[in-house]
Amino acid sequence: MIAILSSGCTLKEKTDVVRLLEILGHRVSVSPFGRETIVGVVGTSAPELEARLAAMPGVRETRRDVPPYALVSREHHPETTVVRAAGVEIGGDEVVVIAGPCSVESEAQILRIARGVAACGARLLRGGAFKPRTSPYGFQGLGEEALDLLERAREETGLGIVTEVVSGEDVPRVARTADVLQVGARNMQNFRLLEACGRQGKPVLLKRSHMGTIDELLLAAEYVVTHGNPRVILCERGIRTFETATRNTLDVSAVPVLKERTHLPVIVDPSHAAGRREWVPALAAAAVAAGADGSIVEVHDRPDEALSDGRQSLTLQGFEAMMRRLQRVAAAVDRRLGVSFAPSGGPTCPTASPRPT
Ligand code: PEP
Ligand code: MN
Repeated sequence: MIAILSSGCTLKEKTDVVRLLEILGHRVSVSPFGRETIVGVVGTSAPELEARLAAMPGVRETRRDVPPYALVSREHHPETTVVRAAGVEIGGDEVVVIAGPCSVESEAQILRIARGVAACGARLLRGGAFKPRTSPYGFQGLGEEALDLLERAREETGLGIVTEVVSGEDVPRVARTADVLQVGARNMQNFRLLEACGRQGKPVLLKRSHMGTIDELLLAAEYVVTHGNPRVILCERGIRTFETATRNTLDVSAVPVLKERTHLPVIVDPSHAAGRREWVPALAAAAVAAGADGSIVEVHDRPDEALSDGRQSLTLQGFEAMMRRLQRVAAAVDRRLGVSFAPSGGPTCPTASPRPT
């Protein structure tokens, strides 16, 4: 159940509502909602309590039939939310492309790739420092050292940083470097991690899990928002189905469904869905055509040498070709990319630097 407090409600009226609920033994969340305030009562929708709240000064409306994700639902917040990160608006007119390697591997590697994707119109740089790997023998990431390298890449290219956080205790350190904290598919329902991301102020890129329903993704987002952080970007990255030809099955239909159910921005990760670089541009194009606000893609200038996810990483040349294609698709759905390629020519990615001999 929720109580919506009017924009003119006084601090005393707000405190009285919260105090009453606490005295009655209910857990309460208080979140700004435009100019109003939503007081969420966790775990009850008793009619007597609703009537009592509705009669209190400052309460504009009470609702028992709320979707369980009241704060992120479009029903309660019809205007689309634009999340700003490092000067980039996600959820506005622009289709935002986030690109970079699966993992940060060395200073030279991240700088080469960051320069390359920046030249082709990427608006934010991705790069894993803490990697959640299926196998304990897989490369686990360079950890804090990688965060320092990402900062170097930001200084050099101006691109804001998107990097994953895998545990609640790492949140303060990762948030010092990151412009956007990624919560990976395997952690979509790590509720303590979601709460920790809610208690800090940087935007959160929340990925749908392999087996998570759309409603479960929205409830995970609600965790972040109820803990104080409304800056959440949702990401469809492929779900597990009976199909084995692709690494996962990109659920393109999640894009219009999410757009209808929530006011939060929605992006797509075609790399972890496809599992092979050849299929990534088609999935990215489909996502933009379906109304996604952007895409997060893995790019490596030497994918055969990548320490993780090389098979699905676009080369820099492949990334440039994909961006040219996305520019046309974006225009067809009245959106735009943050880069403008002339029909032939325009910016060109630097070619992969020669390997040292
Ligand atoms: C990643 O972005 O490299 C990653 C591990 O993604 P996901 O959580 O979607 O598997
Ligand atoms: Mn990856």
